Amino acid sequence: MTPFTQIRKLIEQRHPGEATVRDCGNGHLQIEGRLLVNYYPESRKRTAYVDATRQGRHHVTPEQALSMAFQAPPVIAGKVKRTGQTGSKRRLLRQAVAVEGKYRCMWCSGLFAPTELTVEHIIPLARGGLNNANNKGLACAPCNQNRGHDMPELKRSGYVNREDSQSMNGGSSK
Ligand SMILES: [Zn+2]
Repeated sequence: MTPFTQIRKLIEQRHPGEATVRDCGNGHLQIEGRLLVNYYPESRKRTAYVDATRQGRHHVTPEQALSMAFQAPPVIAGKVKRTGQTGSKRRLLRQAVAVEGKYRCMWCSGLFAPTELTVEHIIPLARGGLNNANNKGLACAPCNQNRGHDMPELKRSGYVNREDSQSMNGGSSK
């Protein structure tokens, strides 16, 4: 089985409808989930990079390459793209389960009227998150404001602080 078909199988099993893999030729695969990952499984070092970041890793298995498309890397300074959100809000509201006309915030699980919810990126654009359907959800205003480029669910686990301090160390050694 080639890495390409392996990744396709893994997507069907773990992220159905949430990721795609593209064969760009010359041993270059692109995996698009919440992040875009460039993967070179045929190269000697089997490298994978999260697009728009310096998050390169060596000796990456197809499984790890796919999970990289769903893991938040550290904040990328000064690289936030603009987004248009009108269509995605309609789509997300259509998909969401309404409880007495209210919808759940993806972070605090509280119920809110559609007007109180905004479309947010699950992995922030400043962390390389893609402006696509797989990376969007509905969030209430308090959660949205408190969050910034952080990810509260990861902050609670200490993940964000650890990652950020690591990236600072990595940056200064360059
Ligand atoms: Zn909330």
